[in-house]
Amino acid sequence: MSKRDYYEILGVSRNSTPEEIKSAYRKLALKYHPDRNPDDKEAEEKFKEAAEAYEVLIDNDKRSRYDRYGHDGLRAGYDFHSYSRFEDIFSAFNDVFRGSSIFDDFFGNNSGFESFGSSNRRSSSGRGLAERGSDLRIQMPLTLEEIANGVEKQIKYKHWVTCKTCKGTGASSSQGYRRCSACNGSGQIRQVSRTMFGQFVNISTCPTCNGSGQIITDPCKDCSGEGRVMAEDTEKINIPAGVEEGNYLPIRGKGNAGKRGGDPGDLLVVIQEKDHPYFERHNNDVVYRLLVSFPEAVLVSEVEIPTLYGPEKIKIDPGTQPGHAIKLKGKGIPHLNSYGKGDQIVIVNIFIPQNINSKEKGLIKELAQSPNISPKRKANTKDKDFFDKVKDMFIKD
Ligand SMILES: [Zn+2]
Ligand SMILES: [Zn+2]
Repeated sequence: MSKRDYYEILGVSRNSTPEEIKSAYRKLALKYHPDRNPDDKEAEEKFKEAAEAYEVLIDNDKRSRYDRYGHDGLRAGYDFHSYSRFEDIFSAFNDVFRGSSIFDDFFGNNSGFESFGSSNRRSSSGRGLAERGSDLRIQMPLTLEEIANGVEKQIKYKHWVTCKTCKGTGASSSQGYRRCSACNGSGQIRQVSRTMFGQFVNISTCPTCNGSGQIITDPCKDCSGEGRVMAEDTEKINIPAGVEEGNYLPIRGKGNAGKRGGDPGDLLVVIQEKDHPYFERHNNDVVYRLLVSFPEAVLVSEVEIPTLYGPEKIKIDPGTQPGHAIKLKGKGIPHLNSYGKGDQIVIVNIFIPQNINSKEKGLIKELAQSPNISPKRKANTKDKDFFDKVKDMFIKD
């Protein structure tokens, strides 16, 4: 028996919106419903036909397969079952009539329709209800240099992947199932509550079969019915410049596969910043503490310092004081979400030697006699913030 075109059945165009499809289906379903057409075989067929067309066209995945390959497209890949059970039809109705009190008054108790159609169900909607796999977090320690320049990393990690033997179904073959008796294979539990405003239908996932509608009777040997197995994978990850501790990169679909064909979770690559031997990060600036000798600070000098982008020479002006800061513009860390970079701040301090030989001792003693070497003791050295600066050294709790 050749099937009619789904769009033709619903009387909608090929580029109709889900709203148009719903509305067209709703009209047909109400017109041909068995309660309104008792003992009318033709109406019953039309009712089922409309439900089948609706179930396909309202589902993006099924619709696109149907658009590309016609009715055959729905059988390819996994054995899609056409709409043959009334329960399936009702679960599709829930989308259209959800929350409306007319729904239950109109359809009554759906158990009365049990006798229709086949009981075997192994449809893609069962897969769609399978639980999504979990996200997987992986720590990625990076040096400041890697953060400043951006880096490509290859990681090796273990995660759940869909079992190839059973293609994620968990069953050894397409005969390895029986229908879930708790939900009669619908994967959903319907509860009707009556309130003064009317009746409300609450639909929840069946806890016995986790929404798949089926119980595996003959599990796949390779995955023991889980539909997934542990495997090691490698992934290349491009880390942009400017990330910081706690940032993470989500890699869609590379986490754990869900049980029994559930969609995979994401792989979350969490950035960790390694301690740097001599740079301190402050937002996107980096601080570098430079020790210079007394002669270097007094005379003009040039010293080589490290930056995140390689060594660089900087000039120390004659008379540079301890604590003096030199800013190297744009030598910090790139901004992650905008142009430009932070700066490198070089803080100069004077190196005081602790071990000197007798010749050096003589030279320093001689230098000490010289008039410009020593500070003037009676100069105004008051500093009203001094105590605040040093109190941490004295006050111990
Ligand atoms: Zn398997
Ligand atoms: Zn169930």
